[in-house]
Amino acid sequence: MRVLGIETSCDETGVAVYDTGRAGADGLLAHAVYSQIALHAEYGGVVPELASRDHVRKLLPLIRQTLGEAGLGVDDLDGVAYTAGPGLVGALLVGAGVARSLAWALDLPAVGVHHMEGHLLAPLMEDADPVHGRPEPPFVALLVSGGHTQLVAVDAIGSYRLLGETLDDAAGEAFDKTAKLMGLPYPGGPQLAALAEAGTPGRFGFPRPMTNRPGLDFSFSGLKTQVMLAWRDSDQSDATRADIARAFEDAMVDTLAIKCERALDEAGCDTLVVAGGVGANRRLRARLQAMAARRGGRACFPRPALCTDNGAMIAFAGALRLESGERSPDAVHVTPRWDMATLPEVRPGAA
Ligand code: ATP
Ligand code: MG
Ligand code: FE
Repeated sequence: MRVLGIETSCDETGVAVYDTGRAGADGLLAHAVYSQIALHAEYGGVVPELASRDHVRKLLPLIRQTLGEAGLGVDDLDGVAYTAGPGLVGALLVGAGVARSLAWALDLPAVGVHHMEGHLLAPLMEDADPVHGRPEPPFVALLVSGGHTQLVAVDAIGSYRLLGETLDDAAGEAFDKTAKLMGLPYPGGPQLAALAEAGTPGRFGFPRPMTNRPGLDFSFSGLKTQVMLAWRDSDQSDATRADIARAFEDAMVDTLAIKCERALDEAGCDTLVVAGGVGANRRLRARLQAMAARRGGRACFPRPALCTDNGAMIAFAGALRLESGERSPDAVHVTPRWDMATLPEVRPGAA
């Protein structure tokens, strides 16, 4: 089944075609992402109305481009998947409107995908590990993105139990805000991570929030304040900025790793799946892989480009749901706030 995936939940327009007839990463026939970062940079964050308008401008050309790269025409498609939430309502409506219209005009089945399920399943789209194969439920997922930080028990594809989440800032948000207060342009997360590479470990020390008490929730806003105070009282040189970046990243990585290990213990499994933009962080990847390997398990990630928002994850998650017979109603309907635990389980081959 060849599925067109459309992602427009925030400030990236993403389009992809995934073919379930091919194994693993080969199934991804083409994907393209247009990022609106430059558009929002001068405001220091995403402006919802500008985001919607830019999706309107970019989506159809991006669909043409992606189909062209895949060597396909619209008649070669068997289904359409689009992000139906959570996200910015106007932005979501652009993707849903185009997806539903295409599906209606081409008489194709279509399904609205949960954005975080898209992130969560992205690692399963990659080629199977030669030793362990592809991760299969039950496993624990760490979702670390710009809007979410969640630990999820995945009992089956589509069956998700929230184990813990952030009480304030998301991990990506904490990266971005910390970068901003040290003068880096929006969105500073990846730049802060790059700076940390050059930083001296140990010159600054920040807390590992909420690790010294039981539970799987997170809190990152205090960490950001610690950074603000350290930066304010420093010489504010380039070297100091890098050293603080390193200390902040070390605190984030440590905190996430401690909670992931705790979640694996609680769920009684050894497979950790990591997704969302912060999953692209090099030190986090290395740390979680080492932690899982020490337990005789493993940590699975998508390639860095598929950690941040993209259409491929939506095409893939949508294809799994369409193949199990799921369809969304013809109406252009989106769900800006949407609890992943309410999703139906995916029953392969049920169609
Ligand atoms: P959500 O998925 O929760 O709706 P989002 O879609 O905006 O939020 P993503 O696109 O998954 O989030 O991820 C973007 C976030 O990832 C940003 O906060 C960005 O700073 C962060 N990020 C990207 N690369 C890195 C990196 N290498 N290190 C740390 N953070 C990173
Ligand atoms: Mg984004
Ligand atoms: Fe996202």
